[in-house]
This record gives sequence, structure tokens and C-alpha cells, in this order.
Amino acid sequence: MNIVLFGPPGAGKGTQSSLLVQRKNMRHLSTGDMFRRAIEAKTALGQMAKSFIDKGELVPDHVTVSMVENELKTLEGSSFILDGFPRNISQADSLEEMLKKNAISIDAAIFLEVPSSVLEERLTGRRVCKSCGALYHVSEKPPKVAGTCDRCGGEVYQRSDDRAEVIRGRLEVYEKNTMPLKSYYRAKGKLVEVNGQGDAESVFVRLSAVIGSSGQSIKR
Ligand code: AMP
Repeated sequence: MNIVLFGPPGAGKGTQSSLLVQRKNMRHLSTGDMFRRAIEAKTALGQMAKSFIDKGELVPDHVTVSMVENELKTLEGSSFILDGFPRNISQADSLEEMLKKNAISIDAAIFLEVPSSVLEERLTGRRVCKSCGALYHVSEKPPKVAGTCDRCGGEVYQRSDDRAEVIRGRLEVYEKNTMPLKSYYRAKGKLVEVNGQGDAESVFVRLSAVIGSSGQSIKR
């Protein structure tokens, strides 16, 4: 079972992916996490990506696509979740080509649906562990010790692009570039829409109903 998980920033893609990793043994390929790791490691890729990420813009397609291409080669048959990729139609076309080349297929493109009124609050309150990527929220799910990750003891911080002034731009980028993927995957018969409102466990129950307990079947 291989899925593309998409939706607006703050829809809960990262949270649901981490539950899928823990409970269904899937690999999580998040382009946002890959860029943040490169920024943390101060690589040339990281420095380049940071200039786009801090403004809420998309990192250029050729850079993102080649990064994903390298990751796809490491899968060795594991089921995977693509989170944050593709982000536009051109990336989706590139993905089709890469999958074909590697004899892999996507079983479903799952759209996590959350009204825009909820997104801003989720994003401004979101905090992330710098070391392991664990997700927190200042009021809904704070770490037990302020500023310290429950899971690994790493530093919990606010992403530079989760500041209110950047969030608006990211939502616009999403509407213009990523939203059209709904029609793209609908036309391919791969689109599944899941209600992303409510707490993480309730959303996971809905997601699991789609994916199936064995992780093998897709219910539409
Ligand atoms: P995310 O963690 O998915 O919210 O991504 C954070 C930021 O990383 C985005 O706002 C973009 O600047 C960049 N990014 C992540 N995925 C992509 C992608 N597929 N294409 C271009 N930029 C991306």
C-alpha cells in the first residue's frame, strides 16, 4: 500500500503519517522534513531551500524532484506515505515517471479535508522537535517539559514558516498550486477524501477505514 497524503498546511499530514509509521509499519517520505534536516545539517541544499521555505514559497521543482528520486531508491519494497509531495501538477507528472521507472505504483491519493478557519490556529500553535520531528501544539498537545521533546529530549521549537505572517502566503500557495491535485487524482480514479477535523485519533480511525486494517486494501 503506497499513498500520497495531501491537503492544506496544518491538515494533519505529519501527525497522521507518524501514526501510520508506528501502527502500520509504513515509511514516511516528507519533503518538508527532508528540507528541514538539510537546513539543520547546513548543507548547500538546506541553505538554498531555506530561502524559499522562510518566505512560504515552494522550493524549485527540479531540486525537490531529484531529492524525492533519491529517496524512492531507498525504499526496498516498503509501503510508503508521500507527505508534502507532489505539491503541484508538474511534480505529480514527475512522480508518475519516477514510479514507472522504479516499477512502483500509488494505490491512493488521500486528501485530508480541514476548513481554512481551523488551519491558522493549528499552524500558529504548532511546535516541532528539532531532532526527531515529533509534533506538538501549545495548547492541544504541549510537551511535558516546556521546550523539550517527550520522545527524544530534543529542542522543541516553532518552525520559521509557522509564523502568522508566513502562514497566509503558504495557504495561498496551496490554493493555487496544490489544490488542483484533487482533480488530477480524481481523473486517475485515485482520489479518496477523508475528513481531517477533530483530534488525531478520530482522524486516524477514518484514515484506517480507508486504508484497511491490513494496510492492503482501499475502500472508496
Ligand atoms: P511542509 O513541511 O510539507 O509544510 O513543507 C514546508 C516547506 O517546505 C513548504 O512550505 C515549502 O517551502 C517546502 N516544500 C516542502 N515540500 C515541497 C515540495 N514538494 N515542493 C516544493 N517545496 C516544498
